[in-house]
Amino acid sequence: MKEVRISRAIIEEYNKRLLDHLENDVIIVGAGPAGLTAGYWLSKAGIKTTIIEKKLSVGGGIWGGAAGYNTIVLEEKDFMDEIGVATIKKDNLYVIDAIEFATGLGFAAKKAGVQIFNLIEVEDIVLKDEIVKGVVVNNSSISTLGLHVDPFCISSKCLIDATGHPAGIVAMLKKGKPQAVPEELKEYFMDVDTAEAGVVEKTSEIYPGLYVAGMAVCDVFHLPRMGPIFGGMLKSGKKVAELIKQKLKK
Ligand SMILES: Cc1cc2nc3c(=O)[nH]c(=O)nc-3n(C[C@H](O)[C@H](O)[C@H](O)COP(=O)(O)OP(=O)(O)OC[C@H]3O[C@@H](n4cnc5c(N)ncnc54)[C@H](O)[C@@H]3O)c2cc1C
Repeated sequence: MKEVRISRAIIEEYNKRLLDHLENDVIIVGAGPAGLTAGYWLSKAGIKTTIIEKKLSVGGGIWGGAAGYNTIVLEEKDFMDEIGVATIKKDNLYVIDAIEFATGLGFAAKKAGVQIFNLIEVEDIVLKDEIVKGVVVNNSSISTLGLHVDPFCISSKCLIDATGHPAGIVAMLKKGKPQAVPEELKEYFMDVDTAEAGVVEKTSEIYPGLYVAGMAVCDVFHLPRMGPIFGGMLKSGKKVAELIKQKLKK
C-alpha cells in the first residue's frame, strides 16, 4: 500500500539519521544564530556535528527581529555573502530580513553537513570522569505534556550550550556542581558596545567538554545584554567552532 511505503520511507530515514548520530564529535544545543553558525563552520571543517533544537523551527530568536519588526542588524557582513543572504547597507550597519537570515543560516548549516534534530529537548547532561560527554534527550512534546517517559542519550566529544538567554545546559551542570561555573546565571542591563566584545571574548570551554556560545555567554559570565544586534552571535558561533577545531586536532 502506498500509504505504508510513505510511512516506511519516513521512519527508516529518520532512524538511520538518529543511529548515525548517537555518537558525535560535537553536539550543539539550540538552533539559534550562534548554534547554526557554529554548526556551519564545524561541519565545513569535516567535524561530525549534531544540533538539537526543542522547537519545530530553527532560528531561535531571529524570527521576531526587534519587538516583532522582523529585520535584524549586523555591524559587519560576516559570512552573509558566502551563504547568499542579502544585506542592505544603512548608516554603517548591515540590515537583513529576519526570515532570510533564519532560513539562510539554517540552509547553510544543513548544506555544510550538520544534522539537525528538531522537536527534541535536552533534559540533562552526561558527566563521566569530570568531563561532559553528551546529553540526555527526549521528545519535546513529552515534557510539554508533563509525561513520565524515560529519555535516551547521545554522546559528544564537545558540547556547546547555544540555548540563548537561559543558558539551560550550563544551568544543568550548575545544579549538580554549583562551584563549576564561575559567575551567577544572570545578565546585566543592555549595553551594545561592551556586550558584543564580551560575548565573543568569553565564548569558551567553561568545563571539560562543555562550551558556551551566543547569548548563553551573557548569562554565564554576567555580561550586559546586547540590544538587537546579532553580529555577536555569529562571531561567537565562529569562535566556538575554532576552539573546538583546535581541541579535536590535538
Ligand atoms: C525576551 C528576549 C530578549 C532578547 N534580548 C536580547 C538582547 O538583549 N540582546 C540581543 O542581542 N538579542 C536579544 N534578543 C534577540 C535574540 O533572542 C538573540 O540575540 C539571539 O537570538 C540569541 O541567539 P542565540 O543563538 O544565542 O540563542 P537563541 O536564538 O535564543 O536560540 C536558542 C535556541 O535554543 C533552543 N533551546 C533552548 N533550550 C533548549 C533545550 N533544553 N533543548 C533543545 N533546544 C533548546 C531554543 O528553542 C532556541 O531555538 C532577545 C530575544 C528575546 C525573546
